[in-house]
Amino acid sequence: MKIIDKIQKKKESNTPFYSFEYFPPKTMEGVQNLYDRLGRMLLFEPLFIDITWGAGGSTSALTLEIAEKAQNVCGLETMMHLTCTNMPVSEIIYALDKAKSTGIRNILALRGDPPRGEEWKKIEGGFAYAADLVRFIREKYGDYFCISVAGYPEGHSDCVSKEEDIRYLKEKVDAGADFIITQLFYDCDIFCEFVEKCRSVGINCPIIPGIMPIQTYAGFVRMTTLSKTKVPQYIMDNLEPIKDNDEEVKKYGVRLCVEMSKRLLDFGVEGLHFYTLNLERSVRKVLKGLQLVTPDQLSPFLPWAQSAAGNRL
Ligand code: FAD
Repeated sequence: MKIIDKIQKKKESNTPFYSFEYFPPKTMEGVQNLYDRLGRMLLFEPLFIDITWGAGGSTSALTLEIAEKAQNVCGLETMMHLTCTNMPVSEIIYALDKAKSTGIRNILALRGDPPRGEEWKKIEGGFAYAADLVRFIREKYGDYFCISVAGYPEGHSDCVSKEEDIRYLKEKVDAGADFIITQLFYDCDIFCEFVEKCRSVGINCPIIPGIMPIQTYAGFVRMTTLSKTKVPQYIMDNLEPIKDNDEEVKKYGVRLCVEMSKRLLDFGVEGLHFYTLNLERSVRKVLKGLQLVTPDQLSPFLPWAQSAAGNRL
């Protein structure tokens, strides 16, 4: 089913949704672990899950394979990311045809990041921007796919101003995108201002905040530096005394996510999109903290059940 239709239903019943992002692991063992994890996360009934497309198309075959299994074997509504990086139109068509033939109805259309250490370049006969990809999908596949696109509350790193970036975001929506998922952020005020600016230029579709629970101090610093994400001073102050204690950092990450999520739900977002980093404990604890999951859904993860499963959960 198309995610946009599912979002509409949730809106009508006034219940917030959540969704989980995963990336293709590097080893076959990692892939198997991911399938096991998807099976467990099914218990939480996410509105959808999504599978990233490795930088420069590096995981295309695996992304397609995992997306297909998630959709058809695990029974999870699945959105496949697709980028323009290093993709001639023929390969884009191959990926979209494959997705369509396996029953995937949802695509996150992106320009993509360049392979590590390189600058982004449009290839001969390829697309320059995500808007071109959205336009192409609509032209070739009509309304078959629900299309989402990326939004940047702090502006995309290549863009000269936030205003210009929002103009290009509107171009993606006008080209046929159904909803927006944002880059991660840690300052909810920035997200709320971004949504208001989007609304003021006529972007009326759902804008779903991308949320990443902090897992380790070093990972958090690396990720926010890489994505040039602003971190409010109070968060750095709270992390400073616990930064060498991974368990405490994780606990703080959960508390912070619960606080942020409450604020965002009060602001009126339709749902919360979690960047899981292929992990599950923190997201589960955030959902528990928000009372979005029932005791029944959590019972397989209680200590006695975990020890029966060899503490893997
Ligand atoms: P675009 O919307 O095309 O924008 C790219 C830049 O060009 C922006 O600076 C924009 O302002 C500018 N621009 C747009 N249109 C024009 C125009 N007409 N003229 C001039 N400038 C223009 N990357 C991956 O490789 N794989 C993934 O799976 C992946 N998943 C992601 C999921 C989410 C939710 C997000 C937020 C990002 C993801 N990314 C992923 C990262 C993304 O690919 C990069 O941020 C990339 O640099 C930009 O992609 P985009 O689709 O936002 O590009």
